[in-house]
Amino acid sequence: MSEEFLSKRILKIEPSLTLQISAKAKKLAEEGRDICNLSAGEPDFDAPEEVISATSNAIYSGFTRYGPAAGDLELRRAIARKLEIQNDIRFDFENVMITNGAKQAIYNLFQILLNEGDEVIIPAPYWLSYPQIVKLAGGNPIILETSAENGFGIDINKLKSKITSRTKFIILNSPNNPTGKVLSKSELLEILEIIRSHKQINIMSDEIYEKIIKKGSLHIPLVSLAKDLRDKIFTVNGFAKGWAMTGWRIGYLAGRKDIIKASSSLQSQSTSNVCSFVQKGAIEALKIRKEYFDEINAKYDVRRKILFEGLKNINNIFVNSPYGAFYAFPKLPNNKISSVDFCKNIMEDFGLVIVPGKVFGDDQCVRISCASSEKNIIDGINRLKLAINSYY
Ligand code: PMP
Repeated sequence: MSEEFLSKRILKIEPSLTLQISAKAKKLAEEGRDICNLSAGEPDFDAPEEVISATSNAIYSGFTRYGPAAGDLELRRAIARKLEIQNDIRFDFENVMITNGAKQAIYNLFQILLNEGDEVIIPAPYWLSYPQIVKLAGGNPIILETSAENGFGIDINKLKSKITSRTKFIILNSPNNPTGKVLSKSELLEILEIIRSHKQINIMSDEIYEKIIKKGSLHIPLVSLAKDLRDKIFTVNGFAKGWAMTGWRIGYLAGRKDIIKASSSLQSQSTSNVCSFVQKGAIEALKIRKEYFDEINAKYDVRRKILFEGLKNINNIFVNSPYGAFYAFPKLPNNKISSVDFCKNIMEDFGLVIVPGKVFGDDQCVRISCASSEKNIIDGINRLKLAINSYY
């Protein structure tokens, strides 16, 4: 298709490299190659039984019609209650809207709040869609580098140096995809201090991995630390990761009522309501007890440990311990090979599928998922070890 035919808007964004990698991995597997796939960005188990039955009951009882664009009232109320309890902040249903995954919450937010040329500071490594969604809304992604050696910590002075009169947002994502970093209270407070002193800056806090956290680590909802800043903090969350509901497409945006209203208008003229019966499943998901999460986290703890210890024992690889989410983000020995070539080569030569750090804004790292069996993780580490020995 000729490029002139496409809108300038779509030409600004890059096609997903991860989709190309999965397509290639699928082709190799079909050809009979022995593939070890540690690229998954989703849990490897099913949604909770209660959620599945509440959803199918909703279908059978005819809860299948159009609903309000902002979401089912009962679900919005249930999420507002969850946020009130967790964030110790008064929220009602008008502070919450239901979206087609956390991704649409982010998309809506930037579509309704960014003007052409507005700047959004994104600490790298970042979830790969942030810069693209910002660009689609006419904004400029301003990347804030961090380093593996410093545990991917945000350098506050560096952050301050990125601020201009056009800065409208800072994006935070904790627990983090791809690094597994969990921001501590003191790190969050330092960042909050910056938005306190800059009137025009807001924060989009993506907390989708809140439930997937290492034993002994703590997820702190950002807004719980700064009730005075509640109008400047927009929380994005969803059911994909914690409840293993990736394909169900359900998430939410929480924040100021007038912004939620504007975001609902956008949604009413684009996708309309999120699938009606899935919203009934989400209400059930919110009732699930802590023991369920303790159980899945115990599994992830074992896997994360196998992955981290395995990586630590590979010569010339540097890796930080992940404290949340289900990834490790090790650094390759040097920049002789880009992360993209490394991942292409390791797939061809050793049948290991992992994701190049370049898509997350760090070309010397790779993302390895532990949303896979212990056996697969051990197999993957062995293949990685062979590859490092042969390439460097
Ligand atoms: N934020 C982060 C950090 C993610 O990793 C993902 C999914 N990979 C999303 C948002 C989007 O989630 P959803 O599937 O709910 O759209």
